Amino acid sequence: MSEKLEQFQRYLNQMEQYRQIGEQMAWDMQTQTPKKGYGYKIDAITYFSGEKFKIATSEETGKMYEEMSAPEEYDALNDVMKLTVRRGKREYDRNKRIPADFYEEMVRASNISSKVWEEAKQKADYDLFCPHLQKMIDFRRRCMEYMEPDKDIYDTMLDMYEEGMDSATIDRLFSQMKEELVPLFQKIMEKPEPDNRCFAGDYDINSQKELEAYLLSYIGFDKEAGVMGESEHPFTMAFGPGDVRVTNHFSRHDAVDAMFSTIHEGGHAIFEQGINPDYVKTAAVDIGMGMHESQSRFYENILGRNINFWKPVYGKVGEILPQFQKIPLEVFFREINHVRPSFIRTAADELTYCFHIILRYEIEKAIFRDGVNAEELPALWNDKMEELLGIRPQNAAEGILQDMHWSDGSFGYFPTYLLGTIYDGMFLEAMEKDLGNVDTLLAEGRIAEITAWLHEKIHRHGSMRTAAETLREVCGQEVTAEPIIRYFKKKYAEIYGVDA
Ligand code: ZN
Repeated sequence: MSEKLEQFQRYLNQMEQYRQIGEQMAWDMQTQTPKKGYGYKIDAITYFSGEKFKIATSEETGKMYEEMSAPEEYDALNDVMKLTVRRGKREYDRNKRIPADFYEEMVRASNISSKVWEEAKQKADYDLFCPHLQKMIDFRRRCMEYMEPDKDIYDTMLDMYEEGMDSATIDRLFSQMKEELVPLFQKIMEKPEPDNRCFAGDYDINSQKELEAYLLSYIGFDKEAGVMGESEHPFTMAFGPGDVRVTNHFSRHDAVDAMFSTIHEGGHAIFEQGINPDYVKTAAVDIGMGMHESQSRFYENILGRNINFWKPVYGKVGEILPQFQKIPLEVFFREINHVRPSFIRTAADELTYCFHIILRYEIEKAIFRDGVNAEELPALWNDKMEELLGIRPQNAAEGILQDMHWSDGSFGYFPTYLLGTIYDGMFLEAMEKDLGNVDTLLAEGRIAEITAWLHEKIHRHGSMRTAAETLREVCGQEVTAEPIIRYFKKKYAEIYGVDA
């Protein structure tokens, strides 16, 4: 090994140790730090991330990337290290172009904006948040101009969350979904709603946790390489393939919600656990958001909202939560696919969820392409809500203030949720070509074969390939919304008796 490569690996190791400590503190803060202790953790996290950023953006690091990118070093590297040098250098160059005082100002403004957003949401007071949102829009716009001066601003934002993605591609995908799925939704709305009164009840929290553990194991989560915790909002955190943590949030009045959070986070976790362990401390473990979300949603929706998923395990659900003994599987199935218009994205069903994302994407484009300013956004939001879902929010808390993403400037993030769903349609068709009908596999309790397929085709590769490359290799084609549209039409025609 060359001296320069050794030095580079020492640097990667140093970065990894900072990451480990940052994640450890973040996990602690979100799962067990008492309210009065938050300050200590925020202090420590800020300190270590600041130190890490200093090293990552130092002249020395820049020099190292120059040296590693020179042909005499670069050409001798294996593919994983090549990727790590390439991505690392790109990030270094982008960060270097951002003036330090501007960056500091932006971080400070974003902390304030997030705090104000919390208060504004509580009070349903958009006027309070509006000037901060406008600041975040302006800061992010300038930041992208610094990072990629020659590239379209919104495309740079999209690329940050899903490498290689751009709005021309998303326009094509989302407009087709809108065209095909809004009429489907409208036909469903003409049909009677399923009766869900039998779900009202008091569900023991410990039993729900027992069910969580059971379902995670069932879908293939390795308990020797992960643990479960609790937090306000469910999330997955990976220290490495050997330590992947999931959290859940439980309610005494609703057991179904936590079941699906379990399966969703389980999908994220199985992906992380399945990454080739040789990739630790390289860029190959940093998976794009769209691809990550495709795996959580594959488990949650494609598998978990299929009646056959539950056939082998529904008896066990009733054993752990006796209330379910009185709910026939057919009724449970109708409820977990209960399509209805709702204001809140995170509470939406699988079909209308798509519209919530399309709405946010169109608004982001209006901001960064058409120069629409923050004052105009609530009206735009409400109009689009009416256009897509036929309902109009009564206040900003159930409208534009509901999500935190924009408050810290995370524009370009929302579309990845729906990209994940679109990839899922493609993966499902490719999988059925290899393994046969997924209904049969699920009904026969052969979910391990599905997980093994996903491991082989997707998980173990980590982020060695971009999403577009993965789709080309696994599905043999470019990204297309047609498979997921076929899936929705077939599924909801059966459930609601509409002709799609
Ligand atoms: Zn997710």
